[in-house]
Amino acid sequence: MENLYGIQFEDLEQKMVSIGQKAYRAKQIYGWLYQHRVYDIDSMSDISIKFREQMKQDFSVQLPSIITKQISYDGTIKMLVECDNKVAVETVLMRYDYGNAICVSSQVGCNMGCSFCASGLLKKQRNLETHEIVGQVMAMQKYLDENEPGQKISHIVVMGTGEPFDNYENVMRFVRIMNCVWGLQIGARHITISTSGLADKIIRYGQEGLQINLAISLHAPNNEIRNKIMKINKAFPLEKLIPAIKEYQALTNRRVTFEYILLKDVNDSLENAVELKNLLDGIDGLVNLIPYNEVDENGYKRSSNETIRSFYDKLKKLGMNVTIRKEFGHDIDAACGQLRAKKEGVI
Ligand code: SAH
Ligand code: SF4
Repeated sequence: MENLYGIQFEDLEQKMVSIGQKAYRAKQIYGWLYQHRVYDIDSMSDISIKFREQMKQDFSVQLPSIITKQISYDGTIKMLVECDNKVAVETVLMRYDYGNAICVSSQVGCNMGCSFCASGLLKKQRNLETHEIVGQVMAMQKYLDENEPGQKISHIVVMGTGEPFDNYENVMRFVRIMNCVWGLQIGARHITISTSGLADKIIRYGQEGLQINLAISLHAPNNEIRNKIMKINKAFPLEKLIPAIKEYQALTNRRVTFEYILLKDVNDSLENAVELKNLLDGIDGLVNLIPYNEVDENGYKRSSNETIRSFYDKLKKLGMNVTIRKEFGHDIDAACGQLRAKKEGVI
């Protein structure tokens, strides 16, 4: 039994042809799944009953079930959802003036072991399948359809638990399904993948021919600091990561976002700002400064508002594009890095 949410449009066309149907069946099915948004094959009423019965032998339409749902005073919605074989992951909806952005998880747990991150406290249990990532979006959209008619998810960030490039194929299939003109039609420029810096995959991603955004979790201006806070820097140190990003940029011409969490007395000095400027020289980048959300287990502290401000001002003065990340859903632990092992994993 194959879950329809995991099948890319072109593959669905091929499957239809291979079972003696016309390719346009794929358009009909995508229309029912993503535009009309029905949740069973029986509701696909312009498909003959005979073929619907046949489809039910091979295909299912199955969303992850919602275990808990929390809504913040700022409208942020956090859901814990149950995927196949009783694994649970979190997904978060954030409200911007430009639209509704969903933050999806790509793995159960994470093996990258960044020392500041709560999501990585649970080691990777497994990759999420394509339909389980699509399912997070569709479960959230179903909730909106039922409770806030007219509200559509317009943006996607792959920034929940997990390292998306450690689950490369499933994540690529996911973004292609989300981007499909017969489906939800979420524009490539409205989709962002965030990686801790798997240099080989960054180049491969550049070769995909997609207009999707890339964000790099950089968090340090030199190897010494990055080695301390991000284990992945041992495998892909800056002398590998930075050229990979340059190659990606040469291939795509896209601006890259650099995420930089400000950790008190670790990476937040004005010298660090200058080092950061030099490191990113020659890259068309945007530095997104992230106020740290403290995690009980590790002892890192959030930089003070003054420090954040002066780091920001310094980068501006040095001529960089820089923003400070807006924060969401603090009261429900939905903010970056707060998606936690204690609620995720095998239930
Ligand atoms: N694994 C991928 C994507 C998920 S992490 C990556 O690391 O890029 C999403 C973002 O949240 C990353 O930039 C991550 O570094 C950041 N983050 C992790 N823990 C955080 C915390 N406690 N406070 C603020 N941001 C955090
Ligand atoms: Fe994994 Fe990203 Fe957290 Fe690092 S920051 S442990 S890569 S989820």
